[in-house]
Amino acid sequence: MMTPANPSTLDYAMTRVADHFMFGIYFDLSRYLIAAGALTALLLIFRGFAETRRIQRGRRASRADYTRELLSSMRTVVVYAVVTLAILVGRETGVILLSIKDAALWTIIWQVVLIVLAHDAWFYWAHRAMHSKRLFRATHLHHHKSRTPTPWTAYSFTMTEAVIEVAFVPIFLLITSQLGIAYAAFAILFFIWHQMIRNVMAHAGSELFPAGWVDNPWTDWIATTTHHDLHHSSGHNFGFYFTWWDRWMGTEHPRYREAFREVTARGRVGQAEALAEPAE
Ligand SMILES: [Zn+2]
Ligand SMILES: [Zn+2]
Repeated sequence: MMTPANPSTLDYAMTRVADHFMFGIYFDLSRYLIAAGALTALLLIFRGFAETRRIQRGRRASRADYTRELLSSMRTVVVYAVVTLAILVGRETGVILLSIKDAALWTIIWQVVLIVLAHDAWFYWAHRAMHSKRLFRATHLHHHKSRTPTPWTAYSFTMTEAVIEVAFVPIFLLITSQLGIAYAAFAILFFIWHQMIRNVMAHAGSELFPAGWVDNPWTDWIATTTHHDLHHSSGHNFGFYFTWWDRWMGTEHPRYREAFREVTARGRVGQAEALAEPAE
């Protein structure tokens, strides 16, 4: 005969699952709203700079684009919250080693470097796979409805794409846990915020990086806004944080550096013209 589950244990488990899920919604929604909202506000405050540096001059995101991006981002938040819940349950059951104790600065640094490098590789290959004829419609077409990206494009995914994007985190943590590495919660937090900020910057629509960025070997390996904007307007450039995967695999846009130089030179030309204008 089956014995009913202990109601207090069941209640406790259900409450905790509900708590973790609600924490996930709060955590994943707030970072999207904060990052995309803050960048939108900055683009409005520095409207002159943003207009001069607009990457696609002939086209603007429509109201329908913003609505689609916001609504589908809410779906992404729900998918991410389920994964946040799974990671928290994984931590409590000992499957995932995640340390909330203070960690040494050096530990945080190497853990951040490792997870960012791994995520960049994951993103590049998952992104290229989603661009294959077989997968594109079902997974990634939705993200590309945004021909002219806005900060709100950052989470504009189909449910399938959201799962593919976020799957990296539990898979990575399962592997490191198997290797006996307890990831520091602070390293994960830093990784998540870095991901969010770089994501909205990549979709800003206006180039945010300083002129000369692509001509300096110390900075050229970090992808700019033009890098991902070109991906939306004309393909190529599948990478996220860094430029190296596209260079190794020959998928970089042939005019990437030229396009970046053109966008970032505008402000300077404008300044020079303004200075050259005779005083009335
Ligand atoms: Zn794409
Ligand atoms: Zn994009």
